Amino acid sequence: MKYYVENFGCQMNEHDVEKISTLLLVAGYERVREPSGADVVIVNTCCVREKAEQKFYSLMGRLRTLKRRKGTLLGVTGCIPQLEKKDIAEKLPFIDFSLGPSSIHRVKEAVESASRKERLLDFSDNGCAASLHVRPQIAVGTPKAFITIMKGCDNYCSYCIVPYVRGREKSRQSSDILEEIRVLVDRGVREVTLLGQNVNSYNKGQNDLSFPKLLSEVNSMSGVERIRFVTSHPKDLSGELIDCFGSLEKLCQHIHLPFQSGSDKILRLMNRGYTADEYKEKLDLLKNRCNNIAITADCIVGFPGEDEKDFEATMMLVKSVRFDGLFSFCYSPRKLTQAASLPDSVPREESMHRLQELQSVQKAVTSEKNRALEGTKVEVLVEGMSKNSSLELTGRTRSNKIVNFKGDRNLVGELVKVEIVKGYANSLKGTRLKEVYDA
Ligand code: SF4
Repeated sequence: MKYYVENFGCQMNEHDVEKISTLLLVAGYERVREPSGADVVIVNTCCVREKAEQKFYSLMGRLRTLKRRKGTLLGVTGCIPQLEKKDIAEKLPFIDFSLGPSSIHRVKEAVESASRKERLLDFSDNGCAASLHVRPQIAVGTPKAFITIMKGCDNYCSYCIVPYVRGREKSRQSSDILEEIRVLVDRGVREVTLLGQNVNSYNKGQNDLSFPKLLSEVNSMSGVERIRFVTSHPKDLSGELIDCFGSLEKLCQHIHLPFQSGSDKILRLMNRGYTADEYKEKLDLLKNRCNNIAITADCIVGFPGEDEKDFEATMMLVKSVRFDGLFSFCYSPRKLTQAASLPDSVPREESMHRLQELQSVQKAVTSEKNRALEGTKVEVLVEGMSKNSSLELTGRTRSNKIVNFKGDRNLVGELVKVEIVKGYANSLKGTRLKEVYDA
C-alpha cells in the first residue's frame, strides 16, 4: 500500500509526521511524493493560527475530489481533530479515520480499519504518552535528528491553543531519550535537537534529570557533535541553563526565545509571566556566557488591546536586541483560549500594517547581520544538496544560519570549514576551505 503525508505547523508536527511515516514503513507501506499516487493520504494538522486551519480545510476540499475519483483513503491527524474531536467527522464526513497527537501510534490500525470501511476516531489526550515513545526511523547517514523529550504545556498563555490540544506537560524518561540518541549516533547522526513545547521545564518536579543535566549527559556522549533545543519559555530559562552555553562545548551558539510583545501591558494580558526588561536581562546573561550567541524569537502583533504605544514598545525591543531572525505574525483568536474573549480587538488592516513595519525593520537587521559575516570562517554541518542548484551543498552554522556552497555530494554529513563570501536576507553563500575546522 502507498501512502502520502502532508504536514502543517511546527517542528513538533514535522517530527510527528516522521513517527507516522516510520510506523507505516515498518508495516511495509511505501511513501510516495504526490497524493495522486497514494492509496492513503494523511494530513497532519495545526490549529495554532487561523491561516493554517483555513489552508487545511481548503486542502481537504481538493482531497475529497481525489477520493471521489480514485477511492483514496483519507486520514486527518494532529491538533485540529484534537480540538474538534467527534465534530471533525461531521465537518469532514468523507474522512476515513482521525487521530489526535497523542494517538498517532495507532496509525497502522487506523489505516487497516479504514480499508475494512470501519472509521477509527481517537482523541484521547492527557493520559496517553505512547505516541511520545515512537522513535522515528532515519536513513543511515542522515546527519541531524530531532528527539522529542516532552509533550504538552502547562503555561496557558492566553492566546495559545497548545495546552488544549497537546495536553499537560509530560516528560520522557531521560534513560529512554539517551538510548534513542545512542541509536541515532550509531546510524551516523552528528547533530541532535531536543524537542518540546517548553523544554526548559523538562521533568519539572519529577524524579529524573533536570533539563540542564540532560543537556550535560548528551554533551558527554561520544559521536554527538552538536546539540540544539527548541522551544524555550523566557520565564523558565534558569541560570543553570544559561550557564550551559558557556560550559557545554557541543551546545550550539543559538537560542530561540519567543518574546511575543515588547509591552508589559500586553505581556500581562498574554499571561507570559515576564516583563520586557526581564526578557532583555536574560538575553544579557546569555550574551555574557556566550558572546557570539545567535538569538531568534517569535512575536505577535495586533493582540487585543495593543495600542500605538504598545506596538512602539515592541518595535523598540526589536531594534535594541537586533535579533538574528524573527518569526512574526498577526494575532488570530483561537477558540477555548482566554484571549478569544478579550475586548479591544485591533482591526485586521491595522495589524497587517504593524506587521509589515516590524518585518521590514527585522529584514534590514537580518541582512546587515548576515553581511557582517562576510570574510569570516565558520563550521558547517553539510545537510544535503541545495534546493536551488545541483552543484551546491547546503548546511548550517553552529549559529543555525543556512550556508550554500559548491561541493561534492560525498561531503553530506561532514563538518567542513567554509569562508562566507556573501550574506543575503535569508542565507549565506560560502566557499569551502580545505583545512580541517579548528575553531
Ligand atoms: S508556552 Fe505559551 S505559547 Fe508556548 S506552547 Fe505553552 S501556552 Fe503555547
